[in-house]
Amino acid sequence: MSRTWFYFRVTNIQKSGVYTFTISNLNRQFKLFDSGLMPVYKSIPSSPEWQTIKPQTILLRSVEKDLEVSFEHHLSTNDKEVYLAYTYPWSYTDDQEFLNKCEEQFTNDEEIYFHRELIAYSRENRRIELITISSHANKLDEREPVLPELFPLNNEIPRPFKFENKKYVFISARVHPGETAASYTFKGVMDFVLDKQDARSKAFRENFVLVLLPMLNPDGVSRGHYRMDTHGLNLNRFYINPTLEQHPTIYAAKQVMMDLHNRNLLFLYCDLHAHANQKGIFFYGNSMEFTDQVEGRLFAKLLSLNSEYFEYEKCDFSETNTSVDKGDGKDKQGAGRVAIYQATKLPRCYTLECNYAAGKTRNILASKQIFTEEQKTNNIIDELKLGEMKGDKKECLDPYTSYSFEEVGLGIGPALLDMIGKNPESRLPNGPYKSLENVKLHIGLSLLKELRFRLDAFIKKINRDLANNIEVLKTFINQGIQVEPAVKVKKELPIKEKRKSLASRNKKPADKKFVIVLDKDSKNNENEANIEQVNDNSTTVEDVKENEEN
Ligand SMILES: [Zn+2]
Repeated sequence: MSRTWFYFRVTNIQKSGVYTFTISNLNRQFKLFDSGLMPVYKSIPSSPEWQTIKPQTILLRSVEKDLEVSFEHHLSTNDKEVYLAYTYPWSYTDDQEFLNKCEEQFTNDEEIYFHRELIAYSRENRRIELITISSHANKLDEREPVLPELFPLNNEIPRPFKFENKKYVFISARVHPGETAASYTFKGVMDFVLDKQDARSKAFRENFVLVLLPMLNPDGVSRGHYRMDTHGLNLNRFYINPTLEQHPTIYAAKQVMMDLHNRNLLFLYCDLHAHANQKGIFFYGNSMEFTDQVEGRLFAKLLSLNSEYFEYEKCDFSETNTSVDKGDGKDKQGAGRVAIYQATKLPRCYTLECNYAAGKTRNILASKQIFTEEQKTNNIIDELKLGEMKGDKKECLDPYTSYSFEEVGLGIGPALLDMIGKNPESRLPNGPYKSLENVKLHIGLSLLKELRFRLDAFIKKINRDLANNIEVLKTFINQGIQVEPAVKVKKELPIKEKRKSLASRNKKPADKKFVIVLDKDSKNNENEANIEQVNDNSTTVEDVKENEEN
């Protein structure tokens, strides 16, 4: 039963016509619907791809403290089944089918190294998968180590081979089971790295090893939870000290990452999420000292130059979003992004958040260009302004489709290639920054406006000579800035209060009444169609905790 999600199937359609569906008792997600969230449908066999219902038919009503959503949809007797859902679903079964297809296609491929293995079982014995993708270049004879207590089927499926001189990228998704957008982003990442036509995909495989954990909460996904596992735990709060018994998926993910880190292989970590409250698609990152902060933001900036939908300006790397004590307990510390950063000091640890409905702007991407030698060496643009140079963009409030989430996933690989200067068809030379060096310089400049990075340290050293100023900034970026300790940052006191009130609201016992009324012709609609809830997906019994990351 759902208070945030709904996902149901209509079968045995006896009469074609327009039906009205009314879903009562939903959480008050007015904001999402106002932003353009539309229920989606697919009809078997006539239109098997998910698409949104007609927007003009949707009606929102406040009933007591809940939301009632009504919409019309045409059903045809030609269809055997019609599925209707809150937003684009991606179930545990969908995930298994997607992985099966990839495995079938790419295991033993001559060009692509694809390895799928079982890392552990969830508490309810569902598979926790680990996928490793690269090229065969620099593949060693030796295999990855079997980590203690993990990889239970290691006798049948050996661990993947080791690689040398490649950077490892770890991406995970669906720790919060209802956040289906994350799986579409995940699919985008996979589609990019498995593309045999795109020169960038090939370059990516030559330079990186992608390690993927597609579903961190398979039990929750399968049972239709929104945020929790089957024991009521928000698994994204246990990365500091996960146990195999209580949080097997988190334990497994952390062990794999720490093992890569200990061998100095882990380059970037990103956990994929969706967000109901904040508009746009953006990162939560960590607050770090100057040099690391430039490095951390660099990937975000490069992603915005490689994805239409990713909004750099919405990214949050603030101290209040990372700090040890912000007055509301240990919450963020236990999140993957924060805990892995604390354990590794890796500057590139991110949470990707995708709003379900819409963003505010779209990036206008520069065209791709094959690097010439001149472009490789000509690194400094003419003008250096104290302020952040923005990439081209336009305002756009159009609702997202599932492709919007995929598109961000498709941009991750190219952004990583730009980051290491190995993108064979980079957009950088034709974009506003021209070179990687300039992207860094501009991030550095924008950071110097923040109090904690001591703007005056920069001001004291700059003069009218542009070349000098660039050198000063470069020194800061490469060597860091000596920041005097204890730059106080305002504490956001009301958070505790806000959370208290949210908690009390969430405690309200969920009224299990889940009303779906087929009321076009209510006297005999029972005979016209059968309606049932689809189990294997993200429906929910929990409230959305607004303002909460991860
Ligand atoms: Zn989340």
